[in-house]
Amino acid sequence: MAQTRIAPPAAKVEGQWAFDQREPLNGNEELKQADDGLNVRHRIETIYAHQGFDSIPGDDLRGRMRWWGLYTQRRPGIDGGKTATLEAHELEDSYFMLRVRCDGGKLTLQQLRTVAAISREFGRDTADITDRQNIQLHWIRIEDVPEIWRRLESVGLTTQEACGDVPRVIVGSPVAGVAADEIVDGTPAIEEIHRRYIGDPAFSNLPRKWKTAISGSPHQDVAHEINDVAFVGVVHPELGPGFDLWVGGALSTNPMLGKRLGAFVTLEQVPEVWVGVTSIFRDYGYRRLRTRARLKFLLADWGTELFRQVLEGEYLGYALPDGPEPAPPPTGRRDHVGVHPQKDGRFYVGAAPMVGRISGPILDAVADLVEAAGSDRVQLTSEQKLVVLDVASDDVDTVVDGLEALGLQVRHASTFRRGTLACTGIEFCKLAIVETKARATALVGELEKRLPTFDQPITINVNGCPNSCARIQTADIGLKGALAQGEEGYQVHLGGGLGLSLGLGKTLRGLRVPASELEDYVERVTRRFDEQRLEGELFAEW
Ligand code: SF4
Repeated sequence: MAQTRIAPPAAKVEGQWAFDQREPLNGNEELKQADDGLNVRHRIETIYAHQGFDSIPGDDLRGRMRWWGLYTQRRPGIDGGKTATLEAHELEDSYFMLRVRCDGGKLTLQQLRTVAAISREFGRDTADITDRQNIQLHWIRIEDVPEIWRRLESVGLTTQEACGDVPRVIVGSPVAGVAADEIVDGTPAIEEIHRRYIGDPAFSNLPRKWKTAISGSPHQDVAHEINDVAFVGVVHPELGPGFDLWVGGALSTNPMLGKRLGAFVTLEQVPEVWVGVTSIFRDYGYRRLRTRARLKFLLADWGTELFRQVLEGEYLGYALPDGPEPAPPPTGRRDHVGVHPQKDGRFYVGAAPMVGRISGPILDAVADLVEAAGSDRVQLTSEQKLVVLDVASDDVDTVVDGLEALGLQVRHASTFRRGTLACTGIEFCKLAIVETKARATALVGELEKRLPTFDQPITINVNGCPNSCARIQTADIGLKGALAQGEEGYQVHLGGGLGLSLGLGKTLRGLRVPASELEDYVERVTRRFDEQRLEGELFAEW
């Protein structure tokens, strides 16, 4: 197949390595060029963990430590109004958030117990399930990091490349390999990419973060539309089950949904196609401005046809066959909450913690339940939920009752609890303007009381700042932290969605709902939808 080489732009310099624009054009690029973020581990183990927080220079503290999943956390008591006015060192505490990556959302019983013990011993019992299937711990001291790594790695877990300008955790269907209605199991591809390329210096300096999703579930359960590269299960009429390739999804600045390249990828080809797309991002991705350093901006300039041409001609060396687009998911729900049959006759049990918040003791208690049921596997979901796999029919009720006793609802999870996500927010995040987890928890509680019979799928995503860690633009009701007349409040995005109701929500410009009025506002909108909706109409269609 003929090589394709894109001609360099006439005048514009975007810092694209493919055109030998290697001169760093901003502080982040300088930092990465000066030293690979992966190298900070050696300094943590040999210097910082012994000499303490104050021995860590700023470039490592606020830059390279992310390559190992570490962010400094917000100092308690600094209100959101000060976020934009204080320097980073004034906002931060001497403790860290530590992100543990769980590729495909997978956790064995032993891994669950290990994370639980770390949470208890080193993280003041904190543990949050993120909407990318990670577990985040807080209150971590630099002195304890080597011991935490030793324990995690002894059971096959890692924090490597959990943050930073690198391939982050690969999200995958939480019910891969077990669901009775699965199209294809993407697990071998996730494992292969992780084994070969996570920690590979060839991909440890990308223009920005790099998000991957691989799911063969018909429920499209990994928010593939907002990943930089995604493989979505389809059945090719001649070639059988495989994946439809999507690229260029991302939220935050200029949110864009991913686009199909129209190419069919077999399970075996996924790792090499991933390498091809990731290499395009590394080589051609824009590095001049952080706000334009995601693949979506390159894709917007190139278009899908040229992108596919470069992928096939310059990186793969062969053409991919055209393939079908994914069938619409069967329902608006993709959280796997409830009891569902597996293909082997056993069951999986999905439980809903409140906005992903759990704790070391809860993880331990879940592990006890899982063990008693003879299972060895728990999965985290992209909806901040948790799924116990491989439960025999006779054990289902015991597992359900046990999870519900821990506050992890299964059979009676309200639509509000199932559909509400919240990012970290002001409790720990230095960028936050407002509270999120506690407020979302209170909101869910109020909505359950005020609208007890409402059972339509609805998503309410709560963000602490204009970034989009809780993907507000793809929620029915997206709430973005902002100040409203000097007090905490939320800007509102309405009518976004993924899957069946795919689209970006509309920003209600000029409307900022003060935190004190949030419950009334969301109740009003939800009630109106319930009264006016036609049979089968989703919120995004209303
Ligand atoms: Fe922090 Fe903002 Fe992300 Fe929330 S959305 S976790 S406040 S950066």
